[in-house]
Amino acid sequence: MRPVRIVLVNTSHPGNIGAAARAMKNMGLTELSLVDPQLFPSAEATARASGADDLLAAADCTATLEQALEGCSLVIGASARNRTLPLPTLDPRDCAALVGRQPPDTRTAILFGRERTGLSNDELDRCHYLVQIPTNPDYPSLNLAAAVQVVAYELRMAAGLSLSQPENKHRYATAEEMELFYRHLEETLIAIDFLDADNPRQLMRRLRRLFARARPNDNEINILRGVLTAIGQRRA
Ligand code: SAH
Repeated sequence: MRPVRIVLVNTSHPGNIGAAARAMKNMGLTELSLVDPQLFPSAEATARASGADDLLAAADCTATLEQALEGCSLVIGASARNRTLPLPTLDPRDCAALVGRQPPDTRTAILFGRERTGLSNDELDRCHYLVQIPTNPDYPSLNLAAAVQVVAYELRMAAGLSLSQPENKHRYATAEEMELFYRHLEETLIAIDFLDADNPRQLMRRLRRLFARARPNDNEINILRGVLTAIGQRRA
């Protein structure tokens, strides 16, 4: 993942700081900056962080936004509202894609505003973009930590860190293996008088469609070949 600093500006409730740290750690983000928090450190923040109190301990606490943005060359403000002087606005998915397209040494800051009033115009003046989570227009504002969660989740997905699939021991059957299987199947169906070689109709084609949908692996084809062999032996 690209380095992304989450900046919480002038947060009122320490519980939200803790919950934001937890959301960040869940998604693999580590860099938290707190600009002039109203109450921090606090037992409430630590409690809400659960096992993410290491992020709180490492959080950078600054008096001004300027200090929190040090070294950041891309600054994005998270906002629930459309602003009077609009900045280019992205949804979290496009925001994450933009972050992922930056040169590797780019440090990005994403700013989250106060619970009651969001980010001020002066703070927005420092942003290149806004990120806005699409919501119900009649009730657009998420809890601060919930907004951090959604944005961080998209950063994780965009970095290709979705669910890791359990490793598959088997490989799909090859075209040659499928042809050998179909030949074996056809011979068997003729031998048991299910398929009339003189009037085959579309039977083999329909069976091919069925097995193509299933896309068997090497092990499954071995099982099917074993069944056909057993039928052949019983008839012999
Ligand atoms: N009443 C405030 C809402 C603040 S919610 C206002 O009108 O701006 C606290 C912070 O959470 C916001 O400043 C923003 O950073 C983030 N946030 C909440 N809802 C959001 C949304 N729909 N999209 C993007 N950020 C959001």
